[in-house]
Amino acid sequence: MTQSDSRPSPLPLLVLGRGTDLHTERGVECPGDLPAPSDPGLVERARAAKAALGDQVFVLGHHYQRDEVIEFADVTGDSFKLAKDAAARPDAPYIVFCGVHFMAESADILTSDEQTVILPDLAAGCSMADMAAIRQVEDAWDDLVEAGVADRTIPVTYMNSSAAIKAFTGRHGGTICTSSNARTALTWALDQAGEGGKVLFLPDQHLGRNTYVRDLGGELDGCVVFDPHKPMGGLTRQELEDATMILWRGHCSVHGRFSLAAVEQARREIPDVKVIVHPECQHEVVEAADEVGSTEKIIKTIAAAPAGTKWVVGTELNLVRRLAAQFPEQQISFLEKNVCYCSTMNRIDLPHLVWTLESLVAGRVVNPIRVDPDVAHHARVALDQMLALPGETHRD
Ligand code: SF4
Repeated sequence: MTQSDSRPSPLPLLVLGRGTDLHTERGVECPGDLPAPSDPGLVERARAAKAALGDQVFVLGHHYQRDEVIEFADVTGDSFKLAKDAAARPDAPYIVFCGVHFMAESADILTSDEQTVILPDLAAGCSMADMAAIRQVEDAWDDLVEAGVADRTIPVTYMNSSAAIKAFTGRHGGTICTSSNARTALTWALDQAGEGGKVLFLPDQHLGRNTYVRDLGGELDGCVVFDPHKPMGGLTRQELEDATMILWRGHCSVHGRFSLAAVEQARREIPDVKVIVHPECQHEVVEAADEVGSTEKIIKTIAAAPAGTKWVVGTELNLVRRLAAQFPEQQISFLEKNVCYCSTMNRIDLPHLVWTLESLVAGRVVNPIRVDPDVAHHARVALDQMLALPGETHRD
């Protein structure tokens, strides 16, 4: 056992926008003078700066971004699609990533050394990615070695993780997955692990559990949760030995809040409603839903549904509101009134985008995201493994 309970928490909370830890997803200071949010000329300034930059800049917008930001995105998508979109534009020297920190890191890993990836607000982290710090994960691996199961364990790491965790995955023969291809990734990893083999699934316990039980037909009691704040993850050697899925104790602070009660209430209040949720939701919510899928799948499912279909959607609110506006022929509502926007995604706003673009026009690169070359190399190994999964392109 390498962890000590007396040690201070390795993840002290930082107030968003304060602090200077660039090695995690946590908030850091914005180094510039932002335009005032009340400036009525912001839209025009963003348009003018983007026009002045022309092909020099490529703006990526994640589906969970605000409308005011999406309006200036050259492409929209989920994290993996956007990283691939960035890699497909080697002619653009500047990639402005309107998303969160781990996404910008992945884009930096997948783009050339000549390109610079920029995150308009460095405080745009991801609480889920922050739930797995590299030192914790390395300690956990030491625990698996001590328990005698590491040589039969393959790490599978969700895209929503720091570059350091992706590199750990590459070093240990594992793969990255997305919410779209988790089933294929898990099938591959269990095959690699062999008889009595295991997967260490990082950092989202819900995606790992839902994929294993729902998609692969595994048993719930084949899953254990590894708590990095407890000695040996709070597990006995026998529990680790018996488990097939060792799930990291992490979750999305948005999707993890959707409840079974909200699904039941929607079914009571809206006759013939269809419930569609993201696989980062808790297992009982996913089990109660009609459809489960990544953001790309949610969009395509609703787009393909007949007019008049009633949907209750369990994913980030910006996307659900945009879907409701885009598909007025459908009745689309948000699953849970008490769940709010992803606060870190919402850090990227028009003032930050204007500041980023106008700085580029003035010849200044602000907030570049540069992954350490050794980390990038091993993270790339794990990302390439994902791309090489059998029969796998980026399904949605
Ligand atoms: S929605 Fe969840 S997983 Fe996505 S960036 Fe926000 S906290 Fe992270």
